[in-house]
Amino acid sequence: AKDERIARISSAIRIIPNFPKPGILFQDITTLLLDPKAFKDTIDLFVERYKGKDISVVAGIEARGFIFGPPIALAIGAKFVPMRKPKKLPGEVISEEYSLEYGTDKIEMHVGAVQAGERALVIDDLIATGGTLCAAIRLLERVGVQVVECACVIELADLKGRERLGDKPLFVLISSD
Ligand code: AMP
Repeated sequence: AKDERIARISSAIRIIPNFPKPGILFQDITTLLLDPKAFKDTIDLFVERYKGKDISVVAGIEARGFIFGPPIALAIGAKFVPMRKPKKLPGEVISEEYSLEYGTDKIEMHVGAVQAGERALVIDDLIATGGTLCAAIRLLERVGVQVVECACVIELADLKGRERLGDKPLFVLISSD
C-alpha cells in the first residue's frame, strides 16, 4: 500500500542536527539510498504520478535532484536537464538569481537544453523556503517551458515554501515540521 511505502521512506531518512550550521536539522537522504526497497518505492511513487502526463523534461536541482531526477526521467520517457550551481556547466548558460538568508545564489541551465512549449517537472530532494524551486521555475518559464509541477521527497512545512510557489503545484512524499 502507499502508506506503507511512505512509512518505509520516512524511516530511511536520517536527521542530523546542527549540520551544516547550528540549529539546522539536516534531512539526510543518503541513508534512503542505502535501502534499495525504500529508494525504489520513492522513484515508483513519482513515476506513478507523472507517467502518461506528457512531461518531456525532468529538471533536477543540484545536487540531490540529480539523484532522484534521472530514474524518473527514464521511466516516464522524458529527458533529464541538470539545473546547476554557478560556473559548473561548460556550455552557454542562462541563470537565475535567488536570495538566501544572507546574500544571494544562482542556478544555471544550458541554453538549448529545453525548447519553448515543452512540459517540465522540477525535482529536488527537499523544499525549505522554496527559494531554489522558485528560481528553477522562473528560469524554465523564461525560455517558454511550462512547469507542470514541482516534486520533492520532503517538505519542511513550517517554512511555508509551498506558499512562495503561489499556484504552482507542489507534490511531496513526506511533509515534516
Ligand atoms: P530552499 O531554497 O530554502 O527551499 O532550500 C532547498 C534546498 O536546500 C534544497 O536543495 C535542499 O536540498 C537544501 N536544504 C535546505 N534545508 C535543508 C535541510 N534541513 N535538510 C536537507 N537539505 C536542506
